[in-house]
Amino acid sequence: MRLYDTMSREIRELAPGDGKEFRFYCCGPTVYGPAHIGNFRTFLLQDVFRRTLELSGLDTFHVRNLTDVDDKTIRDSQAEGKPLKEFTGFWTDRFHIDCSALNMLEPHREPGAVDHIPHQIEMIRDLVEKGHAYSSEDGSVYYKVSSFEKYGRLSRLDQRELRAGASNAVVNDEYEKDQVADFALWKGRRKEDGDNYWDSPWGEGRPGWHLECSAMCREYLGDSFDLHSGGVDLIFPHHENEIAQSEACNGATMADHWFHLTHLLVDGGKMSKSANNFYTLTGLIEKGFSAAEVRFALICASYRQPLNFVAKDGDGKESFPALNSARQALERIARYEEALREKAGVDGLPDWEQVKAFEKGEVFAGAFAALENDLNTPETLGQVFSAIKRKKPEEMDSREAKDAWQGLHITLAGLGLKLPELSSAAVQDIPAEVRELAEKRSVARTNREWEESDRLRDEIAALGWEVKDGKEGFELCPIN
Ligand code: AMP
Ligand code: ZN
Repeated sequence: MRLYDTMSREIRELAPGDGKEFRFYCCGPTVYGPAHIGNFRTFLLQDVFRRTLELSGLDTFHVRNLTDVDDKTIRDSQAEGKPLKEFTGFWTDRFHIDCSALNMLEPHREPGAVDHIPHQIEMIRDLVEKGHAYSSEDGSVYYKVSSFEKYGRLSRLDQRELRAGASNAVVNDEYEKDQVADFALWKGRRKEDGDNYWDSPWGEGRPGWHLECSAMCREYLGDSFDLHSGGVDLIFPHHENEIAQSEACNGATMADHWFHLTHLLVDGGKMSKSANNFYTLTGLIEKGFSAAEVRFALICASYRQPLNFVAKDGDGKESFPALNSARQALERIARYEEALREKAGVDGLPDWEQVKAFEKGEVFAGAFAALENDLNTPETLGQVFSAIKRKKPEEMDSREAKDAWQGLHITLAGLGLKLPELSSAAVQDIPAEVRELAEKRSVARTNREWEESDRLRDEIAALGWEVKDGKEGFELCPIN
């Protein structure tokens, strides 16, 4: 598999360093509220990445942490008057429910920061001994950025304009892109942290956010591993600081490859909890969408391009174009899958282990190859639909149909897509031509091309179908 690497700015071939198992780390959720679908865009594309590796024959070892102590978890648990562990435990359970609804593979290890305080203290001790960290009067310990020559390589710091005089130490877990500062490894105990403090050689306090990932990478993946991943917002300062901590401490290159995922947007801006413009899986299910449709919509665009999820019209009315097309697309694939299955004479759907043993075949080979080529999910879906158009099951013999069926299932397993049940006979009976016109019309409506939309409505009517617009999409009914 080939993938873009943020460090070298190149697309590089991936191979396990130990020749056996591809070992990688993904920065996980901060468990202080529901994960929003922006977070899930990142986690889902990481899931597609892992599935692609496994389906191309590699074993993987996937570690994803839980941030259960930081400025935000402490602030919000205090506000609710709950012990930190109880508060983060609740949101961790909610996160797991969403992950399983979205058909995500569980990571092989999912360590939390609070359970690794001694590991973090050990790392600070090493860094102080090696001259990379210093303690301050309030019992905090800071990383001395100037002591690590390679600081800034990942985020190309030397090419950025830095804020004048910004070389002070920062205590906050998150800070601005143009601010380079010594950052906290250990934060001396403060009144506002309540009961959330631990003993250390520098006095009572708690770890800084960046340190947990370095400590847990060392514990579960060793000094060097194959790949490290997160959303693009983590490149600076989080991943830059992780590299500084780990490499100064361990004397080895932390990760061979850096995989960053671009953001999900709402009406052009980043979806985030702090901007209060976020959507959750539960919220979308309440609006009538299925988890499979949400998964489809979140993975259908390239991980290297931002994806605008919600469009708002002049009156602020929201619509979800990607979700509406997801429903149509999944139904279309399901109908084709069913026709192939009948023709091939196979019963039921294959599970993940069965799919891993399938031959790729010819019909969908291009679709899977696009995943192996820089995780090009839009190209994969494009190839799926052109194969569906090109190769009609009724023109295949049973062997061809079985090959195509297996190839389709490899692609679906790579994307992690579960197909909807085709219960309604009416849906299956809509001719492909009518469906395509209705999908085109839906796109035209999203683009506010009203004339084109009316023209398509007439064309659909001429074929004997009426298109009805509902709140969340369209419905096709035969005209009697
Ligand atoms: P957090 O829970 O904020 O620590 O973030 C968990 C993961 O979601 C990180 O990899 C973030 O980079 C990523 N993330 C946060 N917001 C977005 C967004 N709007 N779109 C895509 N990924 C995001
Ligand atoms: Zn991290």
